Amino acid sequence: MPHKSVHSRRGLMLVMSSPSGAGKTTLTRRLLEDDKDVVMSVSATTRPPRPGEVDGKDYYFVSPERFNEMVENDRLLEYATVFGNKYGTPREPVEQALLWGRDVIFDIDWQGTQQLMSSSKAIDLVRIFILPPSIASLESRLKKRGQDSEETIAGRMAKAESEISHWAEYDYVLVNDDLEETYADLKAIVRAERYRRERRPGMSEFVRGLMDERANREAE
Ligand code: 5GP
Repeated sequence: MPHKSVHSRRGLMLVMSSPSGAGKTTLTRRLLEDDKDVVMSVSATTRPPRPGEVDGKDYYFVSPERFNEMVENDRLLEYATVFGNKYGTPREPVEQALLWGRDVIFDIDWQGTQQLMSSSKAIDLVRIFILPPSIASLESRLKKRGQDSEETIAGRMAKAESEISHWAEYDYVLVNDDLEETYADLKAIVRAERYRRERRPGMSEFVRGLMDERANREAE
């Protein structure tokens, strides 16, 4: 039987970015339901809640003053202004989850991804970009969602192009034209990434054990 440490690994930081309406939230939620080793990073934001959004689950809805306080006290791993509101990733829950060997999923934009990439966390990052099959599908998903005003939707469509322009800064790019297929691809990415050598701290010990075993057998 291999030693238990052979299965131990560093947690992944799964960064999911996309223009609004590409299906990222649906994919993320499914992964969270299916895989108990994955936890969500709940961001803090100064934007008001949309109907149905729950404080502490979808976001921590905070005042601009509280947000600034978090920045000043270094409580955020990264933060950015998106659509005129501030968004940021609380540091502590992420560090806790990684320590417990969990994977953490982040729904953040390209600005946040760049900040994580230039921090000490870079080696834990797996960056995934979700593209819509067309611009028309993006707009129709935003309208169907029924959560935003016409004006907000127009603003998000205008932003989509600049968001999409950062696709090449990601490790994986998925075109979400079939949700089932995209989800299967997402799961395959997560599964493979968990086996990367640099994320298996117990592996050198295990291999040393194999070598010792071989040497012992030879000596016998
Ligand atoms: P929404 O208002 O639709 O929930 O989110 C708008 C955008 O902000 C999305 O692209 C989302 O990925 C991004 N976002 C949400 N939370 C964070 C965060 O903590 N940091 C950064 N950089 N972006 C975020």
